[in-house]
Amino acid sequence: MTFRSDIEIARDARKQPIQDIGAKLDIPSAHLLPYGHDKAKISQDFISSVQDRPNGKLILVTAINPTPAGEGKTTTTVGLGDGLNRIGKKAAVCIREASLGPCFGMKGGAAGGGYAQVVPMEEMNLHFTGDFHAITSAHNLLSAMIDNHIYWGNELEIDERRIVWRRVMDMNDRALRDIVVSLGGVANGFPRQTGFDITVASEVMAILCLATDLNDLERRLGDIVVAYTRERKPIFARDIKADGAMTVLLKDAMQPNLVQTLENNPAFVHGGPFANIAHGCNSVIATTTALKLADYVVTEAGFGADLGAEKFMNIKCRKAGIAPDAVVIVATVRAMKMNGGVAKADLGAENVAAVAAGCPNLGRHIGNVKSFGVPVVVAINHFAGDTEAEVQAVKDYVAEQGAEAVLCKHWADGGAGAEDLARKVVALAESGKAQFAPLYPDDMPLFEKIQTIAKRIYHADEVLADAKIRAQLREWEEAGYGHLPVCMAKTQYSFTTDPGRRGAPVGHSVPVREVRLSAGAGFVVVICGEIMTMPGLPRVPSAEAIRLNDAGQIEGLF
Ligand code: ADP
Ligand code: MG
Repeated sequence: MTFRSDIEIARDARKQPIQDIGAKLDIPSAHLLPYGHDKAKISQDFISSVQDRPNGKLILVTAINPTPAGEGKTTTTVGLGDGLNRIGKKAAVCIREASLGPCFGMKGGAAGGGYAQVVPMEEMNLHFTGDFHAITSAHNLLSAMIDNHIYWGNELEIDERRIVWRRVMDMNDRALRDIVVSLGGVANGFPRQTGFDITVASEVMAILCLATDLNDLERRLGDIVVAYTRERKPIFARDIKADGAMTVLLKDAMQPNLVQTLENNPAFVHGGPFANIAHGCNSVIATTTALKLADYVVTEAGFGADLGAEKFMNIKCRKAGIAPDAVVIVATVRAMKMNGGVAKADLGAENVAAVAAGCPNLGRHIGNVKSFGVPVVVAINHFAGDTEAEVQAVKDYVAEQGAEAVLCKHWADGGAGAEDLARKVVALAESGKAQFAPLYPDDMPLFEKIQTIAKRIYHADEVLADAKIRAQLREWEEAGYGHLPVCMAKTQYSFTTDPGRRGAPVGHSVPVREVRLSAGAGFVVVICGEIMTMPGLPRVPSAEAIRLNDAGQIEGLF
């Protein structure tokens, strides 16, 4: 059986004018700032005018630990949004924008898949409304102003060896990871070592996604620590006087983008921070705006629930004062099999025993999410080769955990394939059972926050950290940063820091390699293992096959 590719399906979408999509949420067309016929930004004035309205229900879509077999969080987010609309609810989805660079590396877009996609998917995966370009420019303006400050005499006494602000671009380019700048003589400044990260790893991205309005954005940009003096005194973006101009560059990027699903339902696509060194969710302003306009808002967090849902709850919800009314954990039969020890090449054959053997990974995520006080439902994202007996094995296991698993076919059938899930989500959200509480209080010491996550979410025995790292955390506490949440950066493939350990391991330790302060974003990044902030391209990048066809359409993107 052959399937149509995501881009072929998307190309046939019968899109409605963006004003008609806005009308579904009662957004007057004067408050939609159109970018072409099928994309618009929502005006700040309109956003301000709806602040007093009550919030709709917030549904988080998260998943088991990712495996090469694929899970489909975005696909399920979009399918559930369409499913909710089909059963008569006013629902919107909120997802992240895509990073352009990775689209030219490996195949895989950010707009969902099959018959559960947002459109225009090509644009969403490429330049879209220019938000990421604006973030790149704002970030690099600050970089340029730092070197310029030093060039003109370095009044702030920045220690050139202790500049922590790098440069960014939205491209996978390993050649730029570590570079020397200012070569070429006196007129070009003082040579020093630095490097590039990909735009989605910029703290400016995390800030844009957590800021509540333009004033909050400017304050947070000013709070960025860019360097230290010889005496280790922090130098802020505010000291470099870059915060005002950066805010100007970000003015339009702060406004959420509205597009539509294949079934013409509203979709907010805004922001896209990394899910390791940042929190991995779409913007607070998009989510809180959607909650004022729709009865149901379905949103997604990056990676598995150990990283994405944990940060969604402990960082985004805490900061934005919102809480999920229900959580959907996406699982697939194939991923359960891989957790049960089956190799990717053998996933085609029925193997009920392996499915059952892999289920404890799912079970642990169910328990973890419930520990935040929110009701959980499992969505089994159906793949064509899944057998009835395998699906039943997942359902039986989940029932033993005190939850329900619902089979979903939105990838093949669109919203109609997610109606059962939609009904279950409505029942959970309306049950009033959610009693959300973050995992730790603001005033817990930073190291204890790390321990709490490691023990309660990763089920580790201990956290290992040098005296140097603990001293650094204490220093930040003394400097007034102790109330910040922690942002864990570890492998997404395992509850442990070893990507090869699937299932639900116990008895492991979590070694902390490094800690970083993101003072503007408002969290302390805790790095456990290798974290890549500038990806490379594979041996055969997908860019080699991407081209325009005779009709001027994009081929080979997905
Ligand atoms: P995630 O958000 O978890 O990274 P996505 O929803 O983006 O995952 O899906 C990743 C890829 O898997 C997409 O190309 C999508 O088309 C594909 N996919 C998702 N669900 C299915 C399914 N049920 N059958 C086949 N392919 C699927
Ligand atoms: Mg996704």
